[in-house]
Amino acid sequence: MDAVSAEGVRVIAIDGPAGSGKSTVARRLAERLGLEYLDTGAMYRSVAFAAMAREVDLADSEAVVELARTSDIRVEDTSVIVDGVDATTQIRGPEVTRSVSTVAAISGVREMLRVRQRAWVMERGGGVLEGRDIGTVVFPDADLKVYLSASAHVRAARRAGEVSALDYETVAADLAARDAADSSRQHDPLAQAPDAVHIDTTDLSVDEVVDDLIARLG
Ligand code: C5P
Repeated sequence: MDAVSAEGVRVIAIDGPAGSGKSTVARRLAERLGLEYLDTGAMYRSVAFAAMAREVDLADSEAVVELARTSDIRVEDTSVIVDGVDATTQIRGPEVTRSVSTVAAISGVREMLRVRQRAWVMERGGGVLEGRDIGTVVFPDADLKVYLSASAHVRAARRAGEVSALDYETVAADLAARDAADSSRQHDPLAQAPDAVHIDTTDLSVDEVVDDLIARLG
């Protein structure tokens, strides 16, 4: 059975590049709708973290897929626990951030995480999920599909504000490299679903975006 065709399951898919506002919007929208929220990027980051912790070579895709299959990954609202280790801070660090696109390009990893994401929704009877391929691949029949974007400058400035250890130029260069990798990979690249609502968040507040989405849900 297709996960989203199950009755009473309400799924909202939010995709877009880094710094487009996905997490903030998804979190607030979920709160307003009384749904749970899943940051699927944190799952890919968790696999990259597990590979780092176990010194698995990212070029060994079979070993990385095995990690995606067997690692105990718990993405909660404010914490991420990987195999019992609190990885909340490290999954956002520069090392994981620079290696995560390599991990996410492995089709077997995507397959494993897709299964977990669909199971997460079924266990909760719905949810707000944010990532790169939620509306295109994971939940193509979502009740609402959203694609967020923002200017490269604003996206880098938002990220630089969150990562105080790195200067703007470094953050902007890392972000551009990650976007290029995520958009050009062979499997499930970042793309706007044809039926997704596109919102450019460059000059919008979080509440303006969330109000717009709630109005569309009717
Ligand atoms: O959202 P965030 O920037 O934390 O995502 C980290 C990385 O995880 C992305 O750059 C991308 O490579 C990968 N990702 C993905 N598919 C998703 C979510 C994230 O490939 N649904």
